[in-house]
Amino acid sequence: MGYNVAIDGPAGAGKSTIAKLVAKEKGYIYVDTGAMYRALAIHFLKKGVAPENTGDVINACRDADVSIRYESGVQQVYLNGANVTGELRTEEVGNMASRTSAIPEVREKLLELQRTLARENDVIMDGRDIGTNILPDADVKIYLTASVETRAKRRYNELKEKGEDCDLEQIAQDIKERDERDMNRDTAPLKKAEDAILVDSSDMTIPEVVSEICSHCR
Ligand code: C5P
Repeated sequence: MGYNVAIDGPAGAGKSTIAKLVAKEKGYIYVDTGAMYRALAIHFLKKGVAPENTGDVINACRDADVSIRYESGVQQVYLNGANVTGELRTEEVGNMASRTSAIPEVREKLLELQRTLARENDVIMDGRDIGTNILPDADVKIYLTASVETRAKRRYNELKEKGEDCDLEQIAQDIKERDERDMNRDTAPLKKAEDAILVDSSDMTIPEVVSEICSHCR
């Protein structure tokens, strides 16, 4: 059994940035579960499946195989044998992932992959239902959040840096909608596990958040 740190929270809270740094400091593997939902989203987009057509999404899951490899310690996501890591972080893919991740069969498809990684490795795993559902016995659970304004600004800067055209208001709106969907869906909604430590990063620097989380970990 690996040592498991679960880190959940809403879109743009900084989970991946923080989790990567904690992983480096503590020698854990960083597992980005959002990337797995995003890989499936690419599959649905390629097939032209509409997210509201649940039956079509479930059907499309049948010929999707998502797997994870670590190359120089960095997570690479494969969809049906092709490395799609570079295509994951667009708003289009994120929105499709947010919509389709509400479907139980989509979640079921990725559950075993996530649990196996945690069983076999010391991990810090980021997502929405890691502490509540995937790893209920995780050694440490963190719920990382920040205000909508802070999160929108961070995502805006991230996209700008990549040279993508984007609009702050639109991003804030997308984040609100994504929160709404993630927190209110029937299956595995985003919520703080009772035994999770709440960290609000709105007014914290990255090193402050990393050090706070590391102080709770072995
Ligand atoms: O974290 P990220 O923005 O990459 O996740 C994309 C979408 O995948 C989220 O909006 C969320 O709906 C979904 N997701 C999820 N459960 C996870 C990770 C991500 O439902 N464990």
